[in-house]
Order: sequence, then structure tokens, then C-alpha cells
Amino acid sequence: MQNRKLLEKMKDMFKIIRGEIFDFLAESELDASQPVPRFFSEGALVVSAGKVEEIGYYNNIREKYPDVPCEQYSGKLIVPAFIDTHIHYPQIEIIGSFGCQLVDWLKHYAFPAEKSFKDPVYARALAELFVQELFKNGTASCMAFSTVHKEAVDALFEVASGYNMRMITGLVWMNRHGDAALMDDTKNAYRETRELIERWHKKGRNLYAITPRFAISCDEASLELQGKLHSEFPDTYVQTHLSENDQEVQMIRTLFPEAEDYLEVYEKAGLVTNRAIFAHGIHLSDSELERLAKTGASIAHCPTSNLFLGSGLFGLKRTHEAGVQITIATDVGGGTSFSLLRTLGEAYKVQQLQKYALKPFEAFYRITLGAARALHLDHLMGNFDPGKEADFVVLDGAVTTLQKLRLEFLNRTHSLDVESLLFGLQITGDDRNVVATHVMGEKVYVRF
Ligand SMILES: [Zn+2]
Repeated sequence: MQNRKLLEKMKDMFKIIRGEIFDFLAESELDASQPVPRFFSEGALVVSAGKVEEIGYYNNIREKYPDVPCEQYSGKLIVPAFIDTHIHYPQIEIIGSFGCQLVDWLKHYAFPAEKSFKDPVYARALAELFVQELFKNGTASCMAFSTVHKEAVDALFEVASGYNMRMITGLVWMNRHGDAALMDDTKNAYRETRELIERWHKKGRNLYAITPRFAISCDEASLELQGKLHSEFPDTYVQTHLSENDQEVQMIRTLFPEAEDYLEVYEKAGLVTNRAIFAHGIHLSDSELERLAKTGASIAHCPTSNLFLGSGLFGLKRTHEAGVQITIATDVGGGTSFSLLRTLGEAYKVQQLQKYALKPFEAFYRITLGAARALHLDHLMGNFDPGKEADFVVLDGAVTTLQKLRLEFLNRTHSLDVESLLFGLQITGDDRNVVATHVMGEKVYVRF
């Protein structure tokens, strides 16, 4: 009787997810360019209370958990859900806006669009669309820019909380060189940021990021106050932009004539820590890279945005060799796709132009376990080690005619393995390849 009760309880508590299971082992951190993969072609995960209980071969797991219900994804690839470390939620409407480079693009498209987010109803509707779009693309966690409006930050945290997804966002600070309607008084921004941190940081899976738009938009006093906040709440993050575009770098020289370089502007304010993610970092000096490496700050490489806005070619190899942690991110709406698969494809091409072949393992590591590590969340997410949160995406590598032909060819020539399958997804994949996305074991998206 006791035994039967125990079995019944197990049935309720556990579920098996069956498919081809792929992730990276923790020792990948030793060299992100050569992460250590783990693959079970006939694999399974056991999930309990939103966390991974076990990973292994399906047959062994089935034997151990004979009556536990099973979700079947046979023949499909199950990988840790993607983590987008740089994206702007209020820019989803202006994706693909024509003809400008960074500074003009912000003025003509981004600033006007962001004004609408003062309205909480509007912000909430767009936050919902934003999160749905993430799930549709296999992304379950993100570090997102919001706007200068606290209503917009509340809306995104509220929507994310409804799905129990990991959301990192924060109030954008800007007190100069922007649209008048988006200028915020620094004291007000400080007060609102404190309130938002107290309301959302570490509540459920939500985490707060102090968010200067970039140093052009924030004067010295504003940056200093943000650094003060970061030291008052040292487990918050910092997210901002760094050295994206030539004109921007030039403006920084004029606005901060005393600073040795761009990074020093943030350093002086106390914003360069191991909890900072700087988007882009294309035009950095050796000294800036060295200092970033020393502090453990990360760079989010956003290839579709860099190409679309003509910002330049990010030197992934150079930056990695300097010891800087790198993630790969979409930067929507300067970036042109929510799909991190498509983004990895563009990252490959950007590196090809610089004679560096970005291997699929390195690429996928930088949007899964590597991204979790950059966020200091690798003890909670990023791979399928037992105890980690069960955020995962189910991928089908053969949804288009060309993908099917490609895989048939590889199979026929005995070259089909998980690396070539992942590379196919990296180069030809997009949201069509996402079969389902799960957050804490629960299905939040399924493709019909
Ligand atoms: Zn950005």
C-alpha cells in the first residue's frame, strides 16, 4: 500500500521529456571557443517541480520511472532554452526601419516609438507580444531594455511573472541628447529605480538591471548616481551600450574630454563590474578589452544589428583572446530578428569576413550555458544538470525542403552528426524550426 502511494505520488511529481538531448557541460567555461558537448541521441530528461531531476538515455530512465507520464519529442532535438542577453522590448514595432545608422536611427525611429510606453495599457499589450515572440523563437530568458517609464518596466515584469520566465530588465536612464518627451530628471529616475528594484528584484525569477541607455544620453552626474545605485544593490546588473558606432565613439570623446576612452566613462561611474553586460563593443582598444577582462564584464555581440545599422564587424576571436566573456544577442529592433538561430547565422558570416570560423558548438554555447555564466546564473540554468531550472526548446532540424535535402545528403554521405545538425540550424534555421518552448518544464509555446 505504502509503495503504491509512493508510485502514485511519483507519477504526479515527475514527467519524462523524450527526445535527442543536447547541452554543454560545466567545464565548458575553461574555453568558451571549445565548449564540451553532451548528447543523448535516444535521450530523456526527468522534470520535477520545474527542475531537471535527471538526464540520460531514455531506456534507463524509463526503467527507473516506469509509470511516469512522458512527453514525446522523438527525433527532435531538445536543447536548453536560448538566453537573449541584449534586446529592446519597446522597439518591436520599428524592426526593419530604413536607412539610418545608430544616432539617426535612435532619433528617427526608436525615440518616437518609445514614447508610447508611458501608457500602461499599451506597454502591457506590447510586453505580452514581446514575450510571445521570444517563446516562439525558443528564447525563455532575456536581459531587455525597457523605456524611461516605470509603467513600461512594471508591465514587462508583470507579463514575465505570469509565465514564470526569467526576466532581467530595468528603467532606462537618459537626461540629454534625446527626445524631450523621454528626458528624465535624474533624481526622479533614482527614486523610481529604487522603487522598482525593491518591487521586482529577486521576486520570483525577476532580476533588475540598472540601465543607462548609453553615455551619450547620460551626463556624468546621472552615470555616477547609477553607479551609486549599483553599489547599493550590488547583485543587480548593469546593461548598456559600448562602442557600437564610430560617430557614437566620436561624440563620447567630445562629451567626456577628460576620459581616456569610452570604457573609462563607465569605469569612473562604477558601472564596470562582473555583473555588467555591454552591447556591441566593436571599436574597443586593447586596453579597454584588457580592463573588461579584468573586471569580468561581458560583451553581447549583436550581429544582425551591427550589419543592419552598418556599425561594424565585431572581432569575436580578438575579444575572446583578450579574455572577455562574450554572449550573442539579437538587439531587436536595431537587430532584425528575434531568432537567435538566425542571429548565430549572421554571427558566423561576420566572423567569416574576419577569417574566423564560428563553430556551431561555440555559437550555441554563447546563447545557452555561456550566457547563463555571463549572468552568473549558471548554477540555476543554461544546461540540464540535475537541479537546474527546466527551460528548454524543442527543435526540428528539417522543416523546410532545403533543410530536409541537406540532412538527407549528410545522412547519405555518412556525415550527419549533432554538430552538422546544429550548424544547419545556425545557418538556415529560424522560428519555423522551433517545435515547442518550455519554461520551468511547462509548455509556453507549441508550433502547430
Ligand atoms: Zn541595444
